[in-house]
Amino acid sequence: MLFSIHRYRDEPRWVTAVHQEISVANHLQHCAAVLSFAWLGTPVSPLTDKEIEEVLNIQGRISFPKPTNPSKNLGEAQSIVVAKRLGAIFVTDDRDAFKVAENPQFLGVGKVKTACSLFYEALADGIITISQIKIDHSTLAAADRVMLCTKRGFSCG
Ligand SMILES: [Zn+2]
Repeated sequence: MLFSIHRYRDEPRWVTAVHQEISVANHLQHCAAVLSFAWLGTPVSPLTDKEIEEVLNIQGRISFPKPTNPSKNLGEAQSIVVAKRLGAIFVTDDRDAFKVAENPQFLGVGKVKTACSLFYEALADGIITISQIKIDHSTLAAADRVMLCTKRGFSCG
């Protein structure tokens, strides 16, 4: 599904922390599949001292009021910083990361999307069908992945 959508969008990027998290869980079937997606390209990292400092700042904001640790929310924080550098859109189903990323200090409203919103954009573009969207929601739920659209306060689509 994501590959189908990607073909009509800007080249995707992912970050080293997300790649690392998925590599650690590589024993899970869906993680192995993600690691095999060549179309995701080489993972990107924050490069400058300022970007690394911003990653730490964002990690703390996402975790607040809970204390953070070096790996908690690292993938989300790196993704926000790299998306800011590239002028890209950040796609997440992490509610706290979504809210922090929408802060104009980071990406701002409109530069953060849920996976489900990509599905509905693809539907509007005629790339996929509503049946495929329903199947993908079920597939993700069966894999214990919670989409943000299914949480209280967010409507699907
Ligand atoms: Zn949805």
